[in-house]
Amino acid sequence: MVNSYARIAGIVLAFWSVTDLCNQTVCHGSEPSVPARRVLVIGIDGVRPDALENANTPAIDKLIAAGSFTKNTKILGNRYCENETISGPGWSSFLTGVWADKHGVHDNTFRGRNYDAYPHFFVYLKRKFPNAVTGSFVDWEPIDTYIVRDADVREVRPASNKNSLEQKDEILAEAAVQFLTRQDPHAVFVYFGQVDEVGHQDGFHPSVPSYLQAIQTVDLHIASLIGAIQSRPDHVQENWLIIISTDHGGRGRKHRGGHDVPEIVTTFLVVSGDEAMKGEIQEPSYIVDVPVIALTHLGVPIEGAWQLDGKAVGIRQEFRNDQ
Ligand SMILES: [Zn+2]
Repeated sequence: MVNSYARIAGIVLAFWSVTDLCNQTVCHGSEPSVPARRVLVIGIDGVRPDALENANTPAIDKLIAAGSFTKNTKILGNRYCENETISGPGWSSFLTGVWADKHGVHDNTFRGRNYDAYPHFFVYLKRKFPNAVTGSFVDWEPIDTYIVRDADVREVRPASNKNSLEQKDEILAEAAVQFLTRQDPHAVFVYFGQVDEVGHQDGFHPSVPSYLQAIQTVDLHIASLIGAIQSRPDHVQENWLIIISTDHGGRGRKHRGGHDVPEIVTTFLVVSGDEAMKGEIQEPSYIVDVPVIALTHLGVPIEGAWQLDGKAVGIRQEFRNDQ
């Protein structure tokens, strides 16, 4: 009896010391449940790159100086381009990393959507890191209704709310700033709608003052978001990557039916942070790249079974695993 008690006590002691070791250090074989790095993805609806160039946007300029940029990002693929050049398919591609033959959304009815097979990128993040904290802030309601999944915080300004998109963007920006300041988020998506609204009213063109003004107003919101990140006590170790792009450009007062219109299908991409490339992105880039860039930075290996169409453009070669 004495011997078996001693054996059991020995086993218990051994177990204690192993669990104690696990608590103090990273235990071999146990996977971390949160990513080591962070991502802020910003989507600005309906921005033409030549208008972005003409607008006074110090916050975006600073991000470009600290990373990579192109004004040659395409909203349609070479492999597949049959969907309408409007927001439903655009944001679906932007958030899922696949073209419309896979996510199934060809227009703003969202009929045929297949986000079960091709989900929002937060889903892949949570599969790898179950305790990652995610937040989505949008004021084009269908994004929240149809596309967003696995967001711990969801802020949406619905269409039934009669505020202008300019007012809604301001409310959203403030909510996102609070989230970035008070919570511990790993992946955040913030969408701004006013630029597209003004484009439809006054024209999508770099010479239209109100269109440029809307871009400048959004730039002020981006400055607030960056300020919130930079005031986080551990922001340097958190290693934030900031990605900005859009779903389409525009010509005249529209962007529908723009398959052969360069001002509609050509947009911009900003990838900014310590692990971003510096300077102009030379390789072809597409809006489906956005979630692949985000997941790569977050340390989520891209699996072939997901059939993503994007690549991690704008990230320095040594941090990429897709080539
Ligand atoms: Zn749009």
